[in-house]
Amino acid sequence: MPAYDFICNACQKRFDVFMTYSEYGVKAVHCTHCGSGNVRRRMTKVRIAKSAESRMDGLESELTSFEGLEEDPRALGRMMKKLGNEMGEDLPAEFDEVVDRLEAGQSPEEIESALPDLGESAADE
Ligand SMILES: [Zn+2]
Repeated sequence: MPAYDFICNACQKRFDVFMTYSEYGVKAVHCTHCGSGNVRRRMTKVRIAKSAESRMDGLESELTSFEGLEEDPRALGRMMKKLGNEMGEDLPAEFDEVVDRLEAGQSPEEIESALPDLGESAADE
């Protein structure tokens, strides 16, 4: 359930309210400090979008600096590891395996034949 950031117009304090997307805009929100219903949504979206954007910019320059990496599995492995770190969690278990093999100097083709299960999870959407 997402947390929504509010500011109370009566006491000027900020507070978070947990509600579902369908509740938002429907459910009356009251200040958790003074109980006033005179509250406004605090806008945090812009800040989030900005940081996501600058992160993508970073990745892009990263990618261009690794041009020609098809011929260099180790560089490809390093880049994938870096991207994996940037992307954060939710990477498939195979990801680490592939990165390790790339860093060991195996070509993508070799890795593909060594890991026949690769891509199976992506196919069963
Ligand atoms: Zn208040």
